[in-house]
Amino acid sequence: MSVPPSAKLRLESAALISNWRALNDLSGDACAGAAVKADAYGLGARSVVEKLLQAGCREFYVANWREASELEDLISGAAQLSVLNGVRESDMPFALQSLAKPVLNSLEQVHRWAGTGRPCDIMINSGMNRLGVNPGDLSGQDLTQLDVDICMSHLACADEDVVQNPDQLAAFIVASDMVTAKRKSLANSAAIALGSAYHFDCTRPGLSLYGGIPRPELNDIIVQVATPQVEILQVRSLKAGDRVGYNAQYIADRDHDIAILAMGYADGYLRSFSGKGIFSVQDISLPVLGRVSMDLIAIDVTGAPQLREGDWVDCAYDLPEASKISGLSQYELITGLGQRFAREWY
Ligand SMILES: *Cc1c(COP(=O)(O)O)cnc(C)c1O
Repeated sequence: MSVPPSAKLRLESAALISNWRALNDLSGDACAGAAVKADAYGLGARSVVEKLLQAGCREFYVANWREASELEDLISGAAQLSVLNGVRESDMPFALQSLAKPVLNSLEQVHRWAGTGRPCDIMINSGMNRLGVNPGDLSGQDLTQLDVDICMSHLACADEDVVQNPDQLAAFIVASDMVTAKRKSLANSAAIALGSAYHFDCTRPGLSLYGGIPRPELNDIIVQVATPQVEILQVRSLKAGDRVGYNAQYIADRDHDIAILAMGYADGYLRSFSGKGIFSVQDISLPVLGRVSMDLIAIDVTGAPQLREGDWVDCAYDLPEASKISGLSQYELITGLGQRFAREWY
C-alpha cells in the first residue's frame, strides 16, 4: 500500500524542454548536451533524460559510473553518455562493458584506457586546476591509441566577467589542437552566454536546464522548472507575544494565525530560509516565521484565512531569487532537495 506524500516537487516538462531549446539555440552551430549528474541536479535523471532525448538532445554527462549504470538503458544507441569523473582502476570492469565513455582526466587514465579500442573523451586543464590533463603533459604523449570523441575543458568563472575566461579559452585552443578528437567542447550554462568563441562543437549546460540563471544574459530565456509544494499539518492561532519554534525566533506582534508545514531542513530547505523564505497560495504571500526545523516550518497565514489542515501551499523557489534570500548558491538549492519530495512531472 502506498502512503500519500506530504511534500511534492512539481516539475514542468515544458519548462525543461524550453530551457534546453533556448540553450541549444544560444549555442549557435554547436549542439547543446545536458549535464544530468547528481540525478539531474536532484530532479530525477531518468525522467530528464527521457524528455531531453525526445527534444533532440544527444549528449549526456554524469559524474560517475554508478550514475551511468542507472541511465545506460535509456541512452543505448540513441545518444552518448560521458562520465566526467574519469575512470579509476576499480571502474574498469564495468566501464569496459558499458555504453558510456570515460572523460580521461589524467595521463594515468590515458594509459589505462589506451588500447581498449573503446571511445573516450578527454579533459584538458585550461586553468581551473580541478580535473584534467595539463597542456604541457600532452606534448610527447602518444594519443594515437585513443579514440577520442570530445576534447573538452571547463571554465572556473563563466558566471563572472573576468580575464580568466579568455585566458582559459586561449589555453584550450592551443591545447586542444594537440589532441586528435572528433569534437571540442568548453561551455557550461554560463559560458554559453559568453558568445560564439566559447561554443565549439558541443555545449554542456546543467544548471540552466533546471531553471538556474548564472548570468543576466539568460534572464529572459530560462524559466523555472521545479516548485516544492507542501501540505499544511496544522493551523493555529497566536496571541500577541506568543513564541514560535526553536529558540523562539519569532514572537507574535499581534493576534494572528499560522500554519505548520510538512517540510524542513532535512528536505534541503535549509535554516538560511528561517524568517526569510516565502510560501504562497493563489499569489498570496505567506512568509516563513522563525526557525526552519528538520521536518516542519511555520508560516504566517494572515493573508489566507481560508487555509486549513490538509491544504497545500507552494514554496517560492525561483532559483536566482531564492539564492538571494538564502545566501545559498542556485546549485545548492536545486541539488539539495531531498528524497522525501514526491517528484511529479506535469
Ligand atoms: C557540471 C558540469 C557542467 C555543467 O555545468 P553548469 O554550470 O551546471 O551548466 C559542464 N561541464 C562539466 C565538466 C561539469 O562538471
